[in-house]
Amino acid sequence: MSAGPPNLVLVVLDCVRAKSLRFGGARRPAHTPELDSLGRDGLVFDHAVAPANWTVPSHWSMFTGVYPVVHGVRQASQAPRSFESVSSRLVERGYETALFTEQEFLVAGLGLEAGYGFRAGPEAGEGAVTEERSKRPGSLRGTDLLYSSPALRLFRAVPPAMVPFNVIDHRVQAAYKARLCGPEVIHRFEEWVRQRDRSRPFHAFVNFVDAHEPYSLVDPTDEAGVLARWYARTPRNFLLLLPELRDRVPWPLLENEYRRAIESADRKVGRLVRALKEANELDHTFVVVTADHGQAFGESGTVFHGNGVTEAVTRVPLIVRPPVEVSLPPRVSEWTSLCALARWFEALARGRPTAEALELPSTPDVGPSSPTVVYCDGSPASDFGKILRGRASEAGWNHRLLAAYQGRSKWVWDVDSGEMFWWKGDGAIADDLRGETVVGSEAHRVRTEIFDPYLRLAPTSPAPTPARAENTRDDVAARLRSWGYDG
Ligand SMILES: [Zn+2]
Repeated sequence: MSAGPPNLVLVVLDCVRAKSLRFGGARRPAHTPELDSLGRDGLVFDHAVAPANWTVPSHWSMFTGVYPVVHGVRQASQAPRSFESVSSRLVERGYETALFTEQEFLVAGLGLEAGYGFRAGPEAGEGAVTEERSKRPGSLRGTDLLYSSPALRLFRAVPPAMVPFNVIDHRVQAAYKARLCGPEVIHRFEEWVRQRDRSRPFHAFVNFVDAHEPYSLVDPTDEAGVLARWYARTPRNFLLLLPELRDRVPWPLLENEYRRAIESADRKVGRLVRALKEANELDHTFVVVTADHGQAFGESGTVFHGNGVTEAVTRVPLIVRPPVEVSLPPRVSEWTSLCALARWFEALARGRPTAEALELPSTPDVGPSSPTVVYCDGSPASDFGKILRGRASEAGWNHRLLAAYQGRSKWVWDVDSGEMFWWKGDGAIADDLRGETVVGSEAHRVRTEIFDPYLRLAPTSPAPTPARAENTRDDVAARLRSWGYDG
């Protein structure tokens, strides 16, 4: 490798699941020539697992290298127990750091932006949040009314009653998303790479949010019908609370739009790589592409993300495209948590040999065989304690579910009900399979050997304070709530 530490670029494709990509084994993959090209030139981790099932805890884990049970953030309004991000450590090592995000959480005052000297995102002054909010009909109080018991009873009994709300709400959400997902952020990256001072190595973090809901139907043969089209535009929390509506959503047609959204993100990845190349930086850069969590389309009753730990949500792409002089194996099939990214980046910045820095197994492509257990901490929806908590308390998606992967097994422990499930397989996507219920001495063994070690990672220091919300701008918080998050 040429002299000096390498540049480190981390690209998060928000909501992009492994299951919809060619190297994730998709039956109908999104067309992603740019990701495919990075995968050909680099290393594909085909058993990568997100640390959490939604954006904020997952990003905290990627940035700090610890699981959610350690940093303690499971809802947006919590501050982490302690916070030393990889970006801060890279600054200490002389790196220039920059954050480019279409995802508001990264610049919403939660602390995730700390350590990045340059920031470009929705906060940067375009006024989209405030403007969209002023266009939004009704207020948060109106939203609360829509979740009232009489309203939910009405929607359950007369599903078409939901449609007028969806007509209004979807337009607002879709317009907002279209603005977030425009060319602005990738353009800012291109400019920054072109103009930056080349004397220092850099670490850039980029989040593209194209694949996030809401979606419109892509229905070329018009098979869905008018009402189904509008049911499909129902906000996530209603789809979770009302199986009557969820069952009327033509999920495969929503997935058509999802694939298109992934393709849009893929084109931005292509622009990013070309910008690095034109600035003569690509040959000295590790480009890592992943996703903070996947996206579910009704699998086992789960909707989008922030609920459940189905493979659709837990399994994410992970590609490492190294500098030109570095050769890597084409594939690693061990279970890999995105918590590893912080360790990798720090080791690469310290000049460790690449195989050691990336903790590559000696036999990388034989399938997962390591005794190491990898976890996904599935909080009961990202706004738990607000709208969904206390409703549908029997529903699995509304429980805290821990997923654990080891070798050729996946276990899910429902922390709230105590139930445990097991899947055995070759690590293939298993959403359509029903896990076996684990009981008796085997349940005791799995609890003791697999899940207790995860819980024991929790520090004994006090739980995180609920102080962050006051640092979040009112308008940003309102927008996050309107997307179904706890702002
Ligand atoms: Zn996300």
